[in-house]
Amino acid sequence: MIEYENLKRLNSPFQKEIEEAVLRVTRSGWFILGKELENFEEEFAAFNGNKYCVGVASGLDALVLSLKYYDFPEGKEVIVPSNTYIATVLSIMQNGLKPVLVEPSIDTYNIDPRKIREKITKNTCAVMVVHLYGRPCDMDPIVEICNANNLILIEDCAQAHGAKYNQKNVGTFGQVNAFSFYPTKNLGAFGDAGAVVTDDPDIANKIRKLRNYGSSIKYYNEFVGMNSRLDEMQAAVLSVKLKYLSQINSHKKAIFEIYDKGLSNRFKKPLPDSESIEQVHHIYPIRHSERDKLKEYLLKNEIKTEIHYPIPPHKQLALAKTLSNDGEFSSGLYPIAEEIHATELSLPISYFHTKADIKRVVDVLNVYQ
Ligand SMILES: *Cc1c(COP(=O)(O)O)cnc(C)c1O
Repeated sequence: MIEYENLKRLNSPFQKEIEEAVLRVTRSGWFILGKELENFEEEFAAFNGNKYCVGVASGLDALVLSLKYYDFPEGKEVIVPSNTYIATVLSIMQNGLKPVLVEPSIDTYNIDPRKIREKITKNTCAVMVVHLYGRPCDMDPIVEICNANNLILIEDCAQAHGAKYNQKNVGTFGQVNAFSFYPTKNLGAFGDAGAVVTDDPDIANKIRKLRNYGSSIKYYNEFVGMNSRLDEMQAAVLSVKLKYLSQINSHKKAIFEIYDKGLSNRFKKPLPDSESIEQVHHIYPIRHSERDKLKEYLLKNEIKTEIHYPIPPHKQLALAKTLSNDGEFSSGLYPIAEEIHATELSLPISYFHTKADIKRVVDVLNVYQ
């Protein structure tokens, strides 16, 4: 069986080093807001080309806190891609703001900059872009639109650690940007973890307080904050994993190339890198009109796959209720998102997969009738 993901196998090359780091933390007697976190924050900021990194409890919290910094009036609108993972949309709603969905390009799966302009109203306060599947969005036009309209730009980099647009890492284009270190992400912890990155000291300082009950001095609370701290254990694990991120990304790139060269064009393959775009291939998404049958066929041949994602945000029960007032959340309004969700299939592309594994997937797919 070729599994889609296996965290034990993924982490086994780093296991010993990680266990040493975890042991160091258990013996230190210091578990929250300590040296391990400070170290990781410095390392990750340096890696990504940001001045500041603030470790938080999850990717969702990193997005929630990024918006919370601005304290936008209730009901203001935030533009977000219609085909993103639910967390991006939830972070907007948790701040009392209104998500305004904008369709992606069917070729890149990322938000279509031309369509952002059409959805800007006098209530728009921010644009949240998502570098989906590890592919950077087309940032030049997006930055230009945000600047021209005085909109805050926030990047959801949860699937794109190390991806570059015009040689700059994602997470350096927006005012404040979010990462997730969920275990299956390219940089994954041994539990939940996330971070906010920014170059603005005011943003970093306030988010440091917001993640810690709105406080920087014990028992003095300046803001209505959250408890969302990246703990010492996860920070220590992430410091080890960060050293191997480029190795992990290169491995995924090599797998991408095997698929790209070998897979029949009957399957709609993801675009390769270009001059401005350097991807990190978090996911290898193909599209096929009979996706479910194809998934079944692969499973019969002992190959596991995933779907990212089976239901688009606008068809989720949780969102339909809140946003049904203006009738926005019904079928047909986001045909590109619906097309992607109906046809997308993610092939194995983990760090533990061998070239032979991937060649087998290619061979099995290419003889599919
Ligand atoms: C994983 C993910 C998140 C949420 O991260 P968590 O750490 O699971 O909270 C947000 N956005 C995208 C695009 C993701 O893939």
